[in-house]
Amino acid sequence: MRLVGKEKLDIDFIITTDRCLMSDHRGHIFLGFMATGPAIGIPENVWKWICCPKPKTDKYGRPQVAPYGLRKIEAALQEAGFKAAVIDPDYVDMYLDTAKALLIGHHDYFAMGPPSNEWWMLLGKEPVNRRSFIQFISRPEIWRAKERGLKIIVGGPAVWQWEVWGEARRRWPVDTLVEGEAEKVVVELARMVLEGSPLPEKVTVPLGKEPGIDEIPDIKAPSVCGLVEIMRGCPRGCRFCSVTLRRLRYMPLEKIEREIQVNINGGVRNVLLHSEDVLLYGADGVRPRAEPLLKLHRLAAKYLEAYGAGFSWSHASLAAVRYAEEHGHIVSRISEMVIDGDRRRFFGVEVGIETGSVRLARIHMPAKAAPYRVEEYPDTVEKAFSIMAENSIIPAATFILGLPGETEDDVLRTIELLERLRPYPSLIVPMFFVPMGMLKDMDGFKKEHLKPYHLEAFRVSAEHSFYWAKRILEKGYLRGPQYAPVRAAIRKFIDYAERRVLEYFRKLEALGPVRGG
Ligand code: SF4
Repeated sequence: MRLVGKEKLDIDFIITTDRCLMSDHRGHIFLGFMATGPAIGIPENVWKWICCPKPKTDKYGRPQVAPYGLRKIEAALQEAGFKAAVIDPDYVDMYLDTAKALLIGHHDYFAMGPPSNEWWMLLGKEPVNRRSFIQFISRPEIWRAKERGLKIIVGGPAVWQWEVWGEARRRWPVDTLVEGEAEKVVVELARMVLEGSPLPEKVTVPLGKEPGIDEIPDIKAPSVCGLVEIMRGCPRGCRFCSVTLRRLRYMPLEKIEREIQVNINGGVRNVLLHSEDVLLYGADGVRPRAEPLLKLHRLAAKYLEAYGAGFSWSHASLAAVRYAEEHGHIVSRISEMVIDGDRRRFFGVEVGIETGSVRLARIHMPAKAAPYRVEEYPDTVEKAFSIMAENSIIPAATFILGLPGETEDDVLRTIELLERLRPYPSLIVPMFFVPMGMLKDMDGFKKEHLKPYHLEAFRVSAEHSFYWAKRILEKGYLRGPQYAPVRAAIRKFIDYAERRVLEYFRKLEALGPVRGG
């Protein structure tokens, strides 16, 4: 649905994305991940209604909440004096006649990133997020405006997909790709747009030239699920990861608090602390330290208590979870601060297991286990899961299949580790290797590379996740009568998906032994 309002803002720069990202995800960021798969068992519009409903907007089409990255671009342009605003995709058309540029951000434009690409590969159906973005970018109104002179600039962590899928730029000839942290370069590009200078086809922010803390503006309006960035970069150096190449920066507490206040004042009742590894905030290298972490969480807890807000972490490494608990019970102390047994009975975090193979860990992520020895990595993973279970933290974990140099034995080690994790409440999802970071020139994992032992890893993780998803739902995810229809729809979906997936693996087993090459 496209809306044309009577009143509109006087803006030169429209900042937007498609519905799968421009949503409050009902206040639960993990629901947003449903859009990375195709709609299964229910119509696509019901699927989208569950995981990415339209957020509230004002009469100008400004959404109450927007993805954090878009909010940063909005803040950077506004602070530099440009007329710019984040606009809900349903309202974009009414600005196309007068705006000078359309700025689009995304973290998986064409569903080529994990986990979208593996659902697509396995189920043979386009994921919802890809369909949604293509529908948005194909609007004739956008391309008519482009003929009249509108510039189109795309960026965000998935900008590489515009280059990898060569057809993308032929089908949708956008002007400029922006790779890297864009707060500074977007201001320069905006100047060029207003001056009428020709735009470069691509701008890359060189490593080491990312914006410093004082060049990263505070968001001016609320972010989805109250996400607030506490640091950028990661010191672990995993070879398959793009984040690791970036400079490490910690946001000062005052800056974090100002952004929490923007969200709370804008009506968002959630604090989501974002970092590639929350427990490394203020760390001594890869050793978490109690003082900065307790200060950070004391700050968050102040708002949780005052506003009855929800809480979560974006990501944490399993080695940091283990180290933080073994050195000062930091995880338990944080949990005591933020868990209240009612609105916050548990909180979620995304974690990367990646592999159960010490051999593969040594090749591709030797520091992922640090400060513990890489030989201890599987034990570190299990210890971290146990610590999280004791402290009401529910991880959504991923592991990678098809890392370069992987053998059958590596995958069997991963399966063994997954089996050890069965007692701990969590979701575990496989991802296929996508070339990024230092491995960006390697070949990605393809369907034809799938071996029976990969499918076995899938089966073990699927059984784990279905088992725990039902219990987590019962335990209180999406509590309250307002969520009853969504909960019922999710429960129905889990039952349906479980039947379909397990049936699929039973058929495979009937064909012969699953383990073995
Ligand atoms: S720990 Fe995570 S964020 Fe850091 S380099 Fe490894 S994969 Fe990337």
